[in-house]
Amino acid sequence: MIESSSIGQAFAGNRGRKNAFGPALREAPMMGEEMTAVRELAAEIHPLLAGRVLLWEEVERLLRKYEKWPGSFLMRRALQWLSLSGMADIRPAVRSAGPPVTWKCERCGYRGPLLRQTPCAICGERCVVCEHCLLLGRARTCFPLFIFSPPDNRTFAGSEIACRTAPLTEAQAKTVERIRANLSQHRQVLVWAATGSGKTEMMMTIVADWLNRGKKVLWVTPRKDVVLELKPRLEKGFAGRRVIALYGGSAQTLETGELVIATAHQALRFYRSFELAVVDEVDAFPLYGNRALEEGIGRALSPGAKKILLTATPPPEWKALGRREILPTVLLPVRYHGYPMPEPALKREWRLWQKISKRKPIRPLSAFLRQVVERKGQAFLFVPRVEDVSRVLRWMKCCEPDFYREARGVFAGDLQREQTVRHFREGKWRFLVTTTILERGVTVPAIHVAVIGADHPVFTAAALVQMAGRAGRSSSYQEGEVWFLTDEKTDAQLRAKREIKWLNDCAKKEGFLKDGAYNL
Ligand SMILES: [Zn+2]
Ligand SMILES: [Zn+2]
Repeated sequence: MIESSSIGQAFAGNRGRKNAFGPALREAPMMGEEMTAVRELAAEIHPLLAGRVLLWEEVERLLRKYEKWPGSFLMRRALQWLSLSGMADIRPAVRSAGPPVTWKCERCGYRGPLLRQTPCAICGERCVVCEHCLLLGRARTCFPLFIFSPPDNRTFAGSEIACRTAPLTEAQAKTVERIRANLSQHRQVLVWAATGSGKTEMMMTIVADWLNRGKKVLWVTPRKDVVLELKPRLEKGFAGRRVIALYGGSAQTLETGELVIATAHQALRFYRSFELAVVDEVDAFPLYGNRALEEGIGRALSPGAKKILLTATPPPEWKALGRREILPTVLLPVRYHGYPMPEPALKREWRLWQKISKRKPIRPLSAFLRQVVERKGQAFLFVPRVEDVSRVLRWMKCCEPDFYREARGVFAGDLQREQTVRHFREGKWRFLVTTTILERGVTVPAIHVAVIGADHPVFTAAALVQMAGRAGRSSSYQEGEVWFLTDEKTDAQLRAKREIKWLNDCAKKEGFLKDGAYNL
């Protein structure tokens, strides 16, 4: 609930402190004409601010954008009016009145060591800054945070606009029906969709259900590049609807609309605004295990809203909750083209990294590279650490010079990264040695996958499934193989292999596989 509180009360914890909201408000009550003007102004600006969580500076930026900025004196009075009439809640952006264990960022909900006390030029004291949501701009004790009540009318006007996605496959259509059935009974559903199953098309069908009923949708993804990739697809599918893309540096940062695609942090600027959330790659950084961001998404949703958690690799504890029917789960075990996922082959090589460093022959690695060339494919060579990229390239230069000429490397923080990946997609390079940064999201048609040093602890079962999931994505190229090169068989490798086989078996049993594509 929004508490109605005066601005003075909101800052009771900051007695004697100046704040970014400006000088103290006049104590005298507003009278006659002034009251009418303020009330009218409040009524005019509330629809623009409804359902938002904003700092004072953001309120100003937003209203200036819509050419509604009345100047700070009138604005303070209008905000006070909204607060007293229960349409806005005003509180310090970071609550730090008591001892540090009680500190909390009111914008992102974070408690912990990323709340830091620093000297502050604005209040002239040491006040507390939240570094957890720094991406959204600084939240600190002496900054007021405004939480505006959602609009009274939770639906937007809009005629039915057909959703134009690629026609769903039989397996996808069946899955969509199962998701609908679950959402009619439960608040949230986990959708476990195999890599390359066409989850975006399925989600668009569900999202259309909500939009056609005039209900707003929030689509959360972990990374900016996914937001950028998704926006044109959704605009095409929902032609005529306004799709807002929010990420750090987005030009639309303070806008809202019927369909908002956002990185997790951007969802923190909303309050009870959406009726459906699609949370993509819930098992990935930064969302997984981050309670503050999870609660932030919860706060952005209306009471009674529904949530779809989407992943190709649910963490073991979620699978367990699914089995016990605590977390309703819908499984789509098959790719859109009906071919099974390539199952990884484990190739053991004694003292693998020593051989790489000393540039000794490694038979399975050479065999893999040769096979890629023979089958006219390309390959990702995944390595566990940044320094391994150059180690593997040096090994290739010495032991496989012909293949080395067609190879490049990428890693996080590599300035050439985007260009190298683009050239690889264009087919300029045959082999790409990479760390797990390309584990998700990058799709190249004729790809093979080798995980070099697959026994390293960075390669969790989920990471291995994601990397293996790069292969066989295109229906026209099914020759891609997945090899795990390893000193030792680890639990993660065996689990990844078992899981992929299990998904293929499920697909077969459900009759989703192309005839003759897979022998159980
Ligand atoms: Zn924060
Ligand atoms: Zn301060």
